[in-house]
Amino acid sequence: MPMIDLRSDTVTQPTEAMRRAMYTAEVGDDVYGEDPTVNRLEQLGAELTGKEAALFVASGTMGNQLAVMTHSPKGDEIICEAESHLFYYEVGGLAYLAGVQARPLTGDKGILPAAAIDAAVRPADIHQPHTSLICLENTHNRAGGTYYSIDQLKEISRLAAEREIAVHTDGARLFNAAVAQQTTIAELTQYSDTVSICLSKGLGAPAGSLLVGSAAFIVRARRFRKMLGGGMRQAGILAAAALVGLTSMVERLADDHHHARQLGEAAAHLGLEVDLATVKTNIVIFDVEKTGKNARQVIELLQQAGVKANAFGEYKVRFVTHYGVTGADVENTIRALAQIVKG
Ligand SMILES: *Cc1c(COP(=O)(O)O)cnc(C)c1O
Repeated sequence: MPMIDLRSDTVTQPTEAMRRAMYTAEVGDDVYGEDPTVNRLEQLGAELTGKEAALFVASGTMGNQLAVMTHSPKGDEIICEAESHLFYYEVGGLAYLAGVQARPLTGDKGILPAAAIDAAVRPADIHQPHTSLICLENTHNRAGGTYYSIDQLKEISRLAAEREIAVHTDGARLFNAAVAQQTTIAELTQYSDTVSICLSKGLGAPAGSLLVGSAAFIVRARRFRKMLGGGMRQAGILAAAALVGLTSMVERLADDHHHARQLGEAAAHLGLEVDLATVKTNIVIFDVEKTGKNARQVIELLQQAGVKANAFGEYKVRFVTHYGVTGADVENTIRALAQIVKG
């Protein structure tokens, strides 16, 4: 029996269609702007998000770091959520690469209220840093895949315009947010100056993200990408798979959300603590303390039953659904979890 891998949606294997597209991809030197497949991917990314331009980058981390480097001069302060990927999981790149100071605010299930952002913007004062960027994470990973409502995005966008501060969205899973809200990605990106979007998570591509924004912004970000060693030459091999992801893997994300909901409801039914209000996309975070075991022990037992998952703290376990997880896998996972709870 192959393992059921719920550790992350980054574990997805390229589909058959992706492998074929990679094999036949027309390529060129992307540093010269001559890779037709990369150019097509960037054009489609810009079109879908309603932005002037897009940049194909190696990873979501690179997209976020480039965004901060391009938006904010060194020494500036950026507002972000305390558990956001940018602040939590990017190896201190904000300090080391971008040279900015982070002002982490604790959100409500990962969501930053406009009023809290407004209160954190620095006044014009010779002693204080200048606030030049607001970073949102949509969907929010550590909060369990929660998303901003369109009204919340509108309010933040209005406040940012008033204060003359740019907005960057870490939209690693922005397509999940769009599908969950039954809207288009452009509806969500319009409230943000720039957005980074992962192609290698739910969309299933082997690697890469897109950073989208104004044409002038992307010209400057492209220079920083080269500086960081992100000039990838015949990157069309990767872009070909990403194009398949963008054009054929978006709508099916609804299946992943359905599966996550089933897992979340089953965990709750088994008496495990899970905030079902956060289970809206493809992530389920639940507390296993009631089993008398810690997360590490539960993960070991799940592993023996053929299920891989990640610990998310002493007693918290995270499941992430993706296209490699079938309805039968969900049923088997629920059975394995029930066995562990019964002890
Ligand atoms: C996965 C992820 C990223 C980017 O991760 P990479 O592994 O660098 O592609 C960025 N933000 C969030 C919220 C993520 O979940």
